Amino acid sequence: MNIGALQKFSLIEYPGKICAIVFTQGCNFRCPYCHNRELVDPEAYGPTITESDVFSFLEKRKKKLDAVTVTGGEPTLQPDIFSFLEKLKAMDYLTKVDSNGSRPDVLKKLIDSRLVDYIALDVKAPLSRYREITRSGIREEDIRESIECVMSSGVDYEFRTTVVPSLLSPDDLTDIARTVSGARRLALQRFVPSKTLDPAFLNEKNYPEETFASIADDIRSFVSDVIVR
Ligand code: SF4
Repeated sequence: MNIGALQKFSLIEYPGKICAIVFTQGCNFRCPYCHNRELVDPEAYGPTITESDVFSFLEKRKKKLDAVTVTGGEPTLQPDIFSFLEKLKAMDYLTKVDSNGSRPDVLKKLIDSRLVDYIALDVKAPLSRYREITRSGIREEDIRESIECVMSSGVDYEFRTTVVPSLLSPDDLTDIARTVSGARRLALQRFVPSKTLDPAFLNEKNYPEETFASIADDIRSFVSDVIVR
């Protein structure tokens, strides 16, 4: 895989587990608020880390880490994600994959091959606004298929939405919740404008806390476990 970065330790990335995080290089979306330009824009790519360096680190940490999260960029674009996860499973690591949902075929194969223990799937926009918000040519039906595939998988999962007020109104968030109605969990993530793919988003302000609370209350009729983080 093209690995752009390795975070050696996280207590928050995999619910209830201690994990390392592998960041793959390359993404087919161009979300303007993205924090990871160096994993998304080929002109900003840094040097890659070899798989053997990652595995030798993981070998040494086997007793201290429970899990490995593979995120991006977009990990499902990596043709060798299957062999990478197979190696992690052979080392008895729990595996989490974060995805933007653009490759339902890959998600399905990962699930069917039992290579993934937890999926975090971004639901970035109402389906009808996906192309606009992700600045990509994604097809609505691919996102819908990914959502259905994850919900019916039996694998532990969460959906998550980065809430950027100038892009997503409270009605849009209700629309997203309706799309994932019956899901186990929807995490509304506050946007942190530290660095962004589109510099125009650096001045973006979050909704006030009371607005977040009221949005979360409204959408609990579709998803019982709504968290704001
Ligand atoms: S935020 Fe968007 S552009 Fe950035 S890595 Fe995720 S899907 Fe790709």
